[in-house]
Amino acid sequence: MNSILEAMKNRKELFWINSTFESTSTGFDKLSLNIEDIMDAEKRLQRFRPFIEKAFPETKANNGLIESELIDIHKTTQMFQIKEQKYYPGKYFLKADSQLPVSGSVKARGGIYEILHHAENLAIENNMLKEDDDYSILLNDSFKKFFSQYKIAVGSTGNLGLSIGIIGSVLNFNVTVHMSADAKTWKKELLRSKGVTVKEYEDDYSVAVREGRKQADNDSKTYFVDDENSEILFLGYATAALRLKSQLEEKKIIVDSRHPLMVYLPCGVGGAPGGITFGLKKIFGDNVHIFFAEPTESPCMFLGVFTGKHENISVKDIGLTNITEADGLAVGRPSGFVGKTVGHLINGFYTLNDNHLYPYLKDIYLMDHIKIEPSAAISLAGPRILLANDYFELKNINPYKATHVSWATGGNMVPDEEFKKWLESNF
Ligand SMILES: *Cc1c(COP(=O)(O)O)cnc(C)c1O
Repeated sequence: MNSILEAMKNRKELFWINSTFESTSTGFDKLSLNIEDIMDAEKRLQRFRPFIEKAFPETKANNGLIESELIDIHKTTQMFQIKEQKYYPGKYFLKADSQLPVSGSVKARGGIYEILHHAENLAIENNMLKEDDDYSILLNDSFKKFFSQYKIAVGSTGNLGLSIGIIGSVLNFNVTVHMSADAKTWKKELLRSKGVTVKEYEDDYSVAVREGRKQADNDSKTYFVDDENSEILFLGYATAALRLKSQLEEKKIIVDSRHPLMVYLPCGVGGAPGGITFGLKKIFGDNVHIFFAEPTESPCMFLGVFTGKHENISVKDIGLTNITEADGLAVGRPSGFVGKTVGHLINGFYTLNDNHLYPYLKDIYLMDHIKIEPSAAISLAGPRILLANDYFELKNINPYKATHVSWATGGNMVPDEEFKKWLESNF
């Protein structure tokens, strides 16, 4: 056990089969959330479709549904096989949240959902809206005036702030984003151009969140999006599982005990991968195997679940820096809510050095023409790591029957110039 901590301290790349893992037959007993909660979130997103379609014309083709494609990436996988001189059995897909409309990252699920939820609550409480109305009326001036009395605060490494700033400014809320030092300049500039207040901190994510919380504590008209503890955010992410289920069905991909689904989720504070895990386990039970992926300098959820200390331990406590090229994953202290809610449903964890991220990012761009960011690239390492660690033999799975889904959590909004630098980097 201690040898894992020792290796983590020494920035070794690790694969850990979660020793606290529980089957879904018992693992859900501890949870207060249920499938009905996911369905409720999905229904809310359905009610907002006319609004989203009108506010964001790029969602027109999907009638206001913010959804990404499930993309066959066997070409990229062939590239891995050639480079590594290894055979990769099974089917390979990318869940391309990197191309999600509106904000180009997985945060377009949770972050946007939470603001819609808040706007709906305010409007209904004030008798301005009923659930069976056409929600595109929320774009009318009367609503703009109404929402302008209210403030929203959030702490972020970048992408959450971006999604909340975008949706918040469309609704005409006063949004303040507290950005950690990791946040990229272009994200701050884009937000400011939309009238969002951006506060910058020379410190990491936990500090940015704390400042956001402080702002809201002193003001009853400020709503704080709590990335570390929000059940609403979590449920917004969880709806992804319903969507993935229908996409797999469309592609006639079977998921059962003989044909398991292996899902690789990049993890920062844990809300996005945690919510998706909750949804997927509710739908597929033990037939989905979930792996959280983190940089070797920021393995916060791994550390929290491994030690059982959750939010009471930070990667800095074991001498790591929490400095990583994967800015979306630069979180030192995990969400205690997520660790305690779904930590035991995660099959395994792995860590990766930053120098592996750019080669993955380049390969998928060259072979399948998909633009992802370094944080998302970590998900592409999952299959190699399972194969190298004999996971399939250990679990008695025929690797030829498995379907792999790497969750590409962001990328589309990265400016071309920045992306070009990554492609040309010498890693
Ligand atoms: C936020 C983010 C993640 C991780 O989500 P958490 O909820 O912080 O765990 C992964 N990748 C990208 C690109 C992100 O922006």
